[in-house]
Amino acid sequence: MTPDVRDRADRPARVGTRDRAGGGAIPESAWDRALHLIGRADEVALACHVTPDGDALGSMLAVAFVLRSMGKRVVASFGDRHFAVPRLLGFLPGQEMLVPPEEFPAAPALLITFDSSTFERLGLLSDNTARAAEVVVIDHHPSNAGFGTLALIDATAAATAMLAEQLIYRLGGRLDRDIATCLYAGLVTDTGSFRHSSTTPAVHQMAARLVATGLRTDEIARELWDRSPFGYLKVLAAAFDRVTLEDGPAGGMVWTYVTRVDRAAYGLPYSELEGIIDIVRRTDEAEVAVVLKEDDQGAWQVSTRSKGTADVGAACAALGGGGHHNAAGYTSHASVEDTMAALRRELGKA
Ligand code: AMP
Ligand code: MN
Ligand code: MN
Repeated sequence: MTPDVRDRADRPARVGTRDRAGGGAIPESAWDRALHLIGRADEVALACHVTPDGDALGSMLAVAFVLRSMGKRVVASFGDRHFAVPRLLGFLPGQEMLVPPEEFPAAPALLITFDSSTFERLGLLSDNTARAAEVVVIDHHPSNAGFGTLALIDATAAATAMLAEQLIYRLGGRLDRDIATCLYAGLVTDTGSFRHSSTTPAVHQMAARLVATGLRTDEIARELWDRSPFGYLKVLAAAFDRVTLEDGPAGGMVWTYVTRVDRAAYGLPYSELEGIIDIVRRTDEAEVAVVLKEDDQGAWQVSTRSKGTADVGAACAALGGGGHHNAAGYTSHASVEDTMAALRRELGKA
């Protein structure tokens, strides 16, 4: 650890080491290795997890801006079969740096992944990742076992965007408004707008650095949370019509589901469903909230939330997914009934 880097006023305090006890910090040697790999590369390939959220896409685009300004060739993507930036994230700058997975280098010399807790979460880009010479994994999921050749993983960081900001400073980059907008999208997405328990002093300090660039917090909030097509209200109505409250092992469980048919009637894309869990989870009588969302391929993407007692991360990991103690998910190819039965079983063990 080099004190000169840590303490310089224009650099952030190391995330997760100062304001939280316990492990999670990334060793200096790992940062040094990352800088070495990036320094010698002419081209850097960037990938984030499928159906990207603000943290995945924001972190990736922020780093892409900086690498591009360093004179690197940058190619960035995510491995969705139907490649499209979710409408919610359409305001993020830097999207001209994105390419569809088919145009991604087949065997990159250097690949950096963002916010992806497993190799499988890279979707179509997992093959490219398997063939990459060096894979730097930047992530904050406790379940991430470090699938690449170099792990920059800090499970105490509230967002991958916090690690992306550190990388940017270490590369000698500075925050401009575009870069800050991307990082801010990651920070507010993963902290639920500074509401979750992951919202440490370091989170607010980072937010202050980002807002100081002149970004529009009001416009970003509106884009992320306060707008939707009319059909969203109709789909919400269908979801809430079938919402169920039942006894669960750790307290009540509230759950519902949204089908492809619900969405098709209004041409609503899958990515519009992200916020439903935030309404369902407000139920006072429930410790656990669950929303099953049928994707365009007919699989159920299961979103789970806990108020702190139940470990939904462990339950989802056991079912092939992952996430955090209070927010996790997985993919199910079973029926709604069988999916819920399996989930009840796993939650009962936790
Ligand atoms: P979501 O409910 O989609 O907002 O996801 C909540 C958390 O669970 C996120 O931190 C994701 O990283 C994780 N997660 C969601 N779906 C999956 C999946 N299929 N596999 C692994 N982790 C997942
Ligand atoms: Mn994510
Ligand atoms: Mn994240």
